Amino acid sequence: MDQVLKGQIAIITGASSGIGAGVAKSMAAAGATVVVNYPVEATKPAADAVLKEITDAGGNGIVAQCDVSKEDQVIKLFADVVAQFGTVDILINNAGLQRDSKFDEMTLDQWNTVISVNLTGQFLCAREAIREFLRRGPRPEVSAATGKIICMSSVHELIPWGGHVNYATSKGGIKMLMQSLAQEYGDRKIRVNSICPGAIQTPINKAAWETPQALNSLMSLIPYNRIGQPQDIGNLAVFLSSDQSDYITGASIFIDGGMTVFEGFSTGG
Ligand code: NAD
Repeated sequence: MDQVLKGQIAIITGASSGIGAGVAKSMAAAGATVVVNYPVEATKPAADAVLKEITDAGGNGIVAQCDVSKEDQVIKLFADVVAQFGTVDILINNAGLQRDSKFDEMTLDQWNTVISVNLTGQFLCAREAIREFLRRGPRPEVSAATGKIICMSSVHELIPWGGHVNYATSKGGIKMLMQSLAQEYGDRKIRVNSICPGAIQTPINKAAWETPQALNSLMSLIPYNRIGQPQDIGNLAVFLSSDQSDYITGASIFIDGGMTVFEGFSTGG
C-alpha cells in the first residue's frame, strides 16, 4: 500500500476488534502511527494482538486504554498521545455498541449506555482532537488539512431500525455532529466525514451471519450479495484520511454493498 499517511498520528477508538482493528491495520499499512484504543483491561490482550499484527507487518503504534464515554479518560488519552508523539493528525471515532430492546421495554440504562458511548463518546473525542488541531495549526509537510476526523456512523443514520431505537438515534445524532463540525471548522482546514457501513462481519452483529440461514436472510438486503469485511472499511478510512480526499468534508459515505438502494424494491413490485 502507498504510504499516503506517512508521518501522521492516528487515534482509532474501539480498535481491539472488528472494524476498528481493520482500520488500524489499514492505516498503519499506509504509514500512520496508530493508537489502538481499547476500553477496559479485559480488552487489552485483544488490542495487544492487533498491535502485534501491525508491528509484525512493519507498522508502528501503541495500545491505549480509554473508555470514550468518560471525559477524564478521553482528555488523558489525547494528552498522553500528544506527550508521546507531539500531536494527533487523525481521529477515527469508531467505538460503539448495541443494547437492543423493543422500545416499550427499553430501560433507561440501555438508552444511556448506547448514547454515552456512541454519541457522547464521539463528541468527547472530536472535541479533544479539534482542540489539538487548533493548538498545533497546519502541518503542510504531512497533509493539506490541519486535521481529519472520521466518524463511524451506519446505514442506520438513514434507515430507521425498530428494536434498536437507541442505536439508530445515536447514529442519526452522529450525522449532525459530523456535518456541524465540518461547517464550523472547515475554514480552519479541519475535515470531518462519516463512514456509514452496512453489514460488516464483526462481533457486534454475529447473530446476522453466524448461521447459513441468518446469512442467507441478510443477503436479501444486500444487492452486491456478500457481507462486508473490516478491510473494506479500512480502505475507505485510509482514503478519507489522506490528501486524495482533500476536497471531501461534511460527507456521509455509505459502504454497504448497495443496502441503501433498498433491494426489496428490485422487482418493481
Ligand atoms: P465491535 O463490537 O467489534 O467493535 C466495537 C468496539 O468498540 C469494540 O472493540 C469495543 O471494545 C469498543 N468499545 C465499546 N465501548 C467502548 C468504550 N466505552 N470506549 C472505547 N471503546 C469501546 O463491532 P464493530 O462492528 O467493529 O463496530 C465498530 C463501529 O462500527 C461501531 O460504531 C458500530 O456501530 C459501527 N458499525 C458496525 C457495523 C457492522 O455491521 N459491523 C455496521 C454499521 C456501523
